Amino acid sequence: MNSKRVRIFVLIVVFLLLVSVIYSGVNTNIKLLASIDRIYRDPYITIDVDEKKHINIINETNKAAHKYLEKIYYKKRDVSKYSYSKYKKENINHKIYKNIDNIIYETKNYIENEFKSYNELVNYSKRKKFIKHLNINVDNYDNSSDILNDLIDADKKKYDELLAYLEYLHSNKDKWYYVNKIIVCKDEETLKTIESKNRELNLDIKIVLESKDENVKKIPVLMYHGVSDVTWGIANLFMKVSDFEDQLKYIHDNYETIFVEEMDDFGSKKAVVLTFDDGYVDFYTNVLPLLKKYNIKANLYVIEGADGGVYLTKSQVKEIADSNLVSIGSHTKTHPTLTGLNSEQLDYELRESKKGLEKLIGKEVKTICYPTGAYNKKVLEYTSKYYDYGLAIENGVQKMYDDYNKLAIKRFRVYRNTSFSKFKSMVDQAN
Ligand SMILES: [Zn+2]
Repeated sequence: MNSKRVRIFVLIVVFLLLVSVIYSGVNTNIKLLASIDRIYRDPYITIDVDEKKHINIINETNKAAHKYLEKIYYKKRDVSKYSYSKYKKENINHKIYKNIDNIIYETKNYIENEFKSYNELVNYSKRKKFIKHLNINVDNYDNSSDILNDLIDADKKKYDELLAYLEYLHSNKDKWYYVNKIIVCKDEETLKTIESKNRELNLDIKIVLESKDENVKKIPVLMYHGVSDVTWGIANLFMKVSDFEDQLKYIHDNYETIFVEEMDDFGSKKAVVLTFDDGYVDFYTNVLPLLKKYNIKANLYVIEGADGGVYLTKSQVKEIADSNLVSIGSHTKTHPTLTGLNSEQLDYELRESKKGLEKLIGKEVKTICYPTGAYNKKVLEYTSKYYDYGLAIENGVQKMYDDYNKLAIKRFRVYRNTSFSKFKSMVDQAN
C-alpha cells in the first residue's frame, strides 16, 4: 500500500470508531428512556382475570431460578471465601465476586431457555426476587425489564449510578410524569433535582416544568363494560341503567362526544370519548337506545369470535354499526391476554378480528382495545400493522401531546360503584 491509501484507510477506521461510540451512547439512552417510561406507565398494575394464573407462573419461575442460582453458587463457592448463606446476609464485594456478571449471564440464559414463552413473566420474576437474591436492590423496579440487560452490558459503576437515578424517579413517582420522551416535573424542586442528576450522569433527557404544559389538550376516555340492572359475573362491571343515563345527560349538556379515531382532529371543543369493552348483549338493549336519545357517540369493542349468548349477535353488531353513532373496534378474535401469545397467535388475533369485523359491518376497523389492558412492546409493534389506535386501561386523562402514544390510550374506568361526583371529576378534565 502506498501512503495515500494508508491515510484513507486510517481515516475510515477513525470514522467507524466514532460512529460506534456515538451509537452506543444513543443505545444506552434509549434503554434508559424505556425504563423511565415503564416506571411511569406501571403496565403491570391491571386487574386481570388471569392474575392468579400469572402469579403461579411467576412463582414457578422464581423457584426454578432460585434453585439454579443456588446450584451455581455452591459450584463456585471455592472462588470466594464466603459461603452461600453468608453471602446471602452480606453485601456483595464486587471485587471478590468478579464472576457475578458471569453468573447473571448464565442464569439469564437458563431462565430464558426454560421459559421462552413467558418472557414477560420471566422479566417480572427477575426483577422481583431473583436480582434481589444477588443483593442488588431493584425491588422497586416493577416496570423496568431492561435492568438485567443493563447490568450485563453496562460497567458496574455506571450501572449503580443509573440504578440510583431510576430509584429516585420511582420513589418520587407522584412528582413527575413521562410523556413524549419528556419528563414533566410537577414542581420546581423536582425539576432541579432531576436536572442535576441528569447532568451528573451526562444524560440527554428533556425535562420541563408542568406549568408550561398545562394548556395541553386533555380528552377523558371512559371505559365501560355492561349497562344492566341485572348483573352476572363481576357485578361491578355493569352500570345501573339510571346511573348511566345520568352520566349521558351530564355529558350531553357539557361536552362533545367523539370517536377514538377522531381524537386527533376535532377542533377546540371540549370532548369526551365513551368506550365499551367486550360487546355484551345489553349494549343493544340498554346502551344504544340511550345513545340515540342523547345523540352521543361511542366506540364498542367486540370480540370477533363471539356470537350470541351474553355477547351481541353478528346481526346486532351490524345494526349497531349502521346507527353511525357507534364505531366498532376490535377486542381481538378470542380475547386472550396478548402478551402471552407467540408471534403467530398474536398476528392472527389482530389480523383476523379486523378482517372479520370489516367484512361484517362494511367499514374500516381502525381501533383496537387490548383484552385486560395487557400489552408490551411486541404487542404494540404488531398492532401498528393493522390499527391506528389502541386502548389500554392505564388510568388517567389522555393528554394530547403532538406525538402521544396512539396505541396506548389511557382510560378512566367507570364501574357500577363509581359515584357521580367521581365520574364528574373524570369528565371535567376535558379542556
Ligand atoms: Zn375485555
